[in-house]
Amino acid sequence: MTVGILALQGDFREHEEMLRRIGAPTLQVRLPKHLDQVDRLIIPGGESTTIGKLLVMYGLIEPLRARVRAGMPIWGTCAGAILMAQRIAGGRTDQPSLRLMDMTAHRNAFGSQLESFEIDLPLEVLNGDPLRMVFIRAPVLEDLGTAVTPLARIDDGRVVAARQANMLATCFHPELTSDDRMHRYFLEM
Ligand code: GLN
Repeated sequence: MTVGILALQGDFREHEEMLRRIGAPTLQVRLPKHLDQVDRLIIPGGESTTIGKLLVMYGLIEPLRARVRAGMPIWGTCAGAILMAQRIAGGRTDQPSLRLMDMTAHRNAFGSQLESFEIDLPLEVLNGDPLRMVFIRAPVLEDLGTAVTPLARIDDGRVVAARQANMLATCFHPELTSDDRMHRYFLEM
């Protein structure tokens, strides 16, 4: 089972490092032909506008959407989660993206006052055990469609992780911690 990691921009090396530690084979995905060689895909954190433009430039949008529609598991962290949302708020709403999950990603939802922070929150899919969540200019997920299950909420109730069938979105960065449980969860999807 080869885990593709979209390697156009952002913190793809951290995901790669985490998967290497788990012992899962990885492949950096930059071109449509790379998609044929992977069984699942991670979209890293970074800058969603930039990654979106590069997805268009490398002709990846449609091939990627087709794979996901055919059932390939996909996980977006932070900018990756923004790229997976069908709707984007808190910035340019017309940025190129994959528009896969029935939800709105509200960009930079914590404002510039709070660029980054870490909290421990229980996560349903980890049996309710707490997970260290690292937020960096993070979005929150809003207007979840009925097919989308919220997996974690911050204290004020806003959703920071969600799943829709084979699609997983987290607003935080498990790849920047030493905790591999979220990666293992994705590998079981
Ligand atoms: N704020 C970034 C964006 O809108 C996401 C930040 C991140 O991935 N850490 O793309």
